[in-house]
Amino acid sequence: MEKPVFTGKFTQQEPIPEAAIAAAVAVMRSGRLHRYNLIGDEEGEVSALEREFAGFTGARYALAVASGGYAMGCALRALGVGQGDRVLSNGFTLAPVPGAIASVGAAPVFVETTPSLTIDIDDLAEKARSSGAKVLLLSHMRGHICDMDRLMAVAAEHGILVIEDCAHTMGAAWRGVPSGRHGIVGCYSTQTYKHMNSGEGGLIVSDDPDIMARAVMLSGSYMLFGRHSVGPSGDRFEKVKYDTPNVSGRMDHLRAAILRPQLADLPAQVARWNALYHRVEEGLRNTPGLQVIERAPEESIVGSSIQFLLPDWSPDAVRALVKACAARGVELKWFGAAEPVAFTSRYDSWRYAPAQRLPRTDAILAGLIDMRLPLTFSEADASLIASIIRDEVMVAMQAA
Ligand SMILES: *Cc1c(COP(=O)(O)O)cnc(C)c1O
Repeated sequence: MEKPVFTGKFTQQEPIPEAAIAAAVAVMRSGRLHRYNLIGDEEGEVSALEREFAGFTGARYALAVASGGYAMGCALRALGVGQGDRVLSNGFTLAPVPGAIASVGAAPVFVETTPSLTIDIDDLAEKARSSGAKVLLLSHMRGHICDMDRLMAVAAEHGILVIEDCAHTMGAAWRGVPSGRHGIVGCYSTQTYKHMNSGEGGLIVSDDPDIMARAVMLSGSYMLFGRHSVGPSGDRFEKVKYDTPNVSGRMDHLRAAILRPQLADLPAQVARWNALYHRVEEGLRNTPGLQVIERAPEESIVGSSIQFLLPDWSPDAVRALVKACAARGVELKWFGAAEPVAFTSRYDSWRYAPAQRLPRTDAILAGLIDMRLPLTFSEADASLIASIIRDEVMVAMQAA
């Protein structure tokens, strides 16, 4: 019998909702795309998005910016991180995270990864001591959230401020607290492959008025900072307005208009992602040779991608599996590849950072497989994908 093949596209997102298209067209008809191009006391799409996102996360302040990478660089600058400083971060993350650290002249200190794909909090404590770093840029890579209660306790013990990279956890939570609300600043991305899609874009949230005043100035507010409906009060800007450089990275009304209807839909989208995720997870669980990543009960996830481990597989066997699945239409990414490909690179390919060795992270990445779950897939698709992976893993196990 012919082996079933999956024909969906792993990089195909859903269309932008009609309400968002209509709002975007209205902005274009107005000709006023710049966030400070407002008439009278008009709020504008960007400030409205900030107000709604602050409400969504429960933050006092929100700021919309040009990208998730910009959000992280801006947060680091707003905290005063600069030339020669060391910043703790995950050994397992995506290139824009160490890139944001390097963009302010600082050096990343990478922390080991647990088999749950989260930051190793014991290694964090160790490296906090040995590096003297005062900031952690914590990446909830692929949506995996570490024990945030323990992490924040360790950070407090070492006098470390935490910036959260929530590119994969917009809409997720730890013990009911939205991701991005444990640290002093939370950063999000609205790039096409994240949980809301404006092509490019980012958001920053914080309760701290002085950090947020600096972030607003940094983002390129000129002296128009009073036009933010959920920004800090004017006196906070008086203290920083002459000393904070304009590192232009604003969001425009067009992208904000596209995002507002998506934010309203986000809880429903999260439920759809999780339905796909749990289908694949159930289909893969108890496959010999394959280890599902069990999620902590405190975690509320957004299953926009799924990961699993192939413990102790040889590189050749992993490559053969990726190839066999690809031949049946299932696109898997392997974090263990020696050479970086497409979006997938690893800490040892970020050679602008001081060379570091993370043996436990290496051991995990050697068997780590990653797969996107776009919402253009149905639950039946998710079941078919899982059965294809399961079949091919079984074939590989028999050959071994
Ligand atoms: C995509 C991503 C970012 C940055 O987002 P951009 O908007 O593309 O700059 C940050 N962290 C992680 C883990 C990401 O995947």
